Amino acid sequence: MLVLREKVNSMRNIFNFGAGPAMLPEEVLLQAQAEMLDWHGTGMSISELGHRGPEFKIVAEQTEADLRELMEIPKNYHVLFLAGGGTTQFAMVPLNLLGKKKSADYIETGIWSQKAVEEAKRYGNVNVAARTEHQDHLAYIPQQKDWTIDENAAYLHYTPNETIAGIEFQWVPKTGNVPLVADMTSMIASRPLDINDFGIIYAGVQKNLGMAGMTIVIIREDLIQDPLPNTPSLYSYKLQAENHSFYNTPPTYAWYMTGLVLAWMKRQGGIKAIYEINLRKAKKLYTLIDEHSDFYINHIQPDCRSLMNVMFHLQDETLTNDFLKQAEALGLTNLRGHRVSGGVRASIYNAMPEEGVNLLADFMRDFAKRNG
Ligand SMILES: *Cc1c(COP(=O)(O)O)cnc(C)c1O
Repeated sequence: MLVLREKVNSMRNIFNFGAGPAMLPEEVLLQAQAEMLDWHGTGMSISELGHRGPEFKIVAEQTEADLRELMEIPKNYHVLFLAGGGTTQFAMVPLNLLGKKKSADYIETGIWSQKAVEEAKRYGNVNVAARTEHQDHLAYIPQQKDWTIDENAAYLHYTPNETIAGIEFQWVPKTGNVPLVADMTSMIASRPLDINDFGIIYAGVQKNLGMAGMTIVIIREDLIQDPLPNTPSLYSYKLQAENHSFYNTPPTYAWYMTGLVLAWMKRQGGIKAIYEINLRKAKKLYTLIDEHSDFYINHIQPDCRSLMNVMFHLQDETLTNDFLKQAEALGLTNLRGHRVSGGVRASIYNAMPEEGVNLLADFMRDFAKRNG
């Protein structure tokens, strides 16, 4: 059996492969711990300080500046820090963008995009312009030329990375005058992107940028308009943008934690550097799965495989529980696939160190050898 290697600078003998809330960089947690009782000599925790005071203002502004720098967000985009989850945006997007159009296009590639569709249907008509398809038992995302796009749609919504199935776009749809809306909850800041391609980007931060309770919305200026009548005030992008996310008390501690994560990302060399590591981590696991295809199987076409959520099954499903139990004993935790998909899922967001992935790969090789 393998043993968990001695880790440098690590106080925890665990690698958490959970899909979200997900692991945070240890440096971030240690900094939060060190600052918990006394933030920068104030004698108070940042969570005790008023959201309109000078201290939290520093945190809020630095967080936004770091996000803008890392993601290269142009000046004509607002960045909102809102209470609530990715799911909140399933409602906010149609409420704010449908306007007089009353119909929107959606690309359905998995459970999260389905949920977005269901919610949007409460407020207007939805045209599902494309869905995941299958060839030789492998799922893939149809090319844009095969989509049935409505040129008068209020917007086109898609989910760049489907967290549960582990299927990810390696390209960005081109929608012309129709604003492109992306639910980036499980892949934000994991790869370089040109923000100009998007009308709205949103992401609950608990997977790649912090802790549960907050969602970041990046919205192009010209898309700020009056929402549909009866929209709750807090669900209005216009109101939130006019008040710089301070209409009411924002989730201050979650905002602060995102700030710590972004500072950590800058120390790692930014998104391009992290993307290189993400590519290596994912490649390591997919290569291993493909090399042991008599034992492990991934059901996604190679050019649609997720960099963030590596999903696979054991060919002999009766071994899955043993696999998970033995992994757990090594400190490789939360690998069980989503309840609807079964199997195994390794979520390897930005904060998952390469050594965690290396250990998982070693374990998978060893397990296959012992049981193959
Ligand atoms: C996790 C997830 C959500 C849901 O986020 P909540 O913050 O729980 O509402 C939505 N979309 C995607 C792609 C996700 O991975």
